[in-house]
Amino acid sequence: MKILIVGGAGYIGSHMVKMLVKQSHEVVVLDNLTTGFRESVKYGSLVVGDLADTILLEAMFSEHSFDGVMHFAANSLVGESMTNPAKYYRNNVSNTLNLLDVMVRHNVKHFIFSSTAATFGEPEYTPIDESHPQNPINPYGSSKLMIERILQDYAEAYGLNSVSLRYFNACGADPEGEIGECHDPETHLIPLILQAASGRRKSITVFGRDYATEDGTCIRDYIHINDLCSAHALGLDYIRSGKEQGALAFNLGNGQGFSVQQVIDVVSKVVAEDGCQLTVENGERRAGDPAVLVADATKAKQTLGWKPDYAELETIVRHAWAWEKKLAGL
Ligand code: UDP
Repeated sequence: MKILIVGGAGYIGSHMVKMLVKQSHEVVVLDNLTTGFRESVKYGSLVVGDLADTILLEAMFSEHSFDGVMHFAANSLVGESMTNPAKYYRNNVSNTLNLLDVMVRHNVKHFIFSSTAATFGEPEYTPIDESHPQNPINPYGSSKLMIERILQDYAEAYGLNSVSLRYFNACGADPEGEIGECHDPETHLIPLILQAASGRRKSITVFGRDYATEDGTCIRDYIHINDLCSAHALGLDYIRSGKEQGALAFNLGNGQGFSVQQVIDVVSKVVAEDGCQLTVENGERRAGDPAVLVADATKAKQTLGWKPDYAELETIVRHAWAWEKKLAGL
């Protein structure tokens, strides 16, 4: 298959590109490199450009006959989305529409979309399955939910088949150590703890110890990047098989929650093997953080035949630590 990966120079997209190329697919990456890195695109060809550039999109779809499109390009900082919603609606919604419209014009009918647990908002129950109400509480989550809704209408009107994958906490790195997570600014828990261990950061601050959880810290569902990517590949196979048509959506996580303190404990154990330690500080709660977010991924398992290969938190941390050591020059 020939697949367009939009945002293929970013964290999740670059791992996806590697997996698809290993599966012998032909991959073309479109990325504007605002948050992605040219060096992360180790396979396939890279077109540097933006989804706002409809002339470029038209040219790319005229040149290539794509069998499917995977879309990872988005702004994804919750806090920033609160202070600059315009950026989120323009990039995550309006620019995605440009992509969907060029697909419709060129009769490309298979679309895989990076959605998020943030579309659910404050959980009403846990683990969260696909029937859980979607009431996002920030513009980032709203922008992703808008596209999920648009995809339902595009399926109905234009026969565009799609799979939206709602990620819980993506983490870990390429098990072969070639690529990994590299955000600037970094806001995610695991890379921040690892940076505190490698010395690239002074300490890690726990955002709140007064939640209604066993140890008082927030619980999240951490899923290995390669497991996320394998779900995308299976999702594309599934809609291409024609077994089901329309706009499908799946929640993706391991179904097991770990508290911030438990993550710190696992990281501390792994880095101690290299003689590293970390300083932990206690801070205030971060606005908008629910106490517990855990996925029920039964539907992805049953429908797509998805199965995580790296469900152990320690394995996820080991892969991420190998990558962090590389970045820190250890
Ligand atoms: N967290 C923390 N300190 C940090 C960064 C994150 O205590 O420096 C907590 C955060 O409050 C949340 C969990 O770690 O409960 C995961 O946060 P992250 O930003 O990695 O992902 P999110 O759950 O927001 O998507």
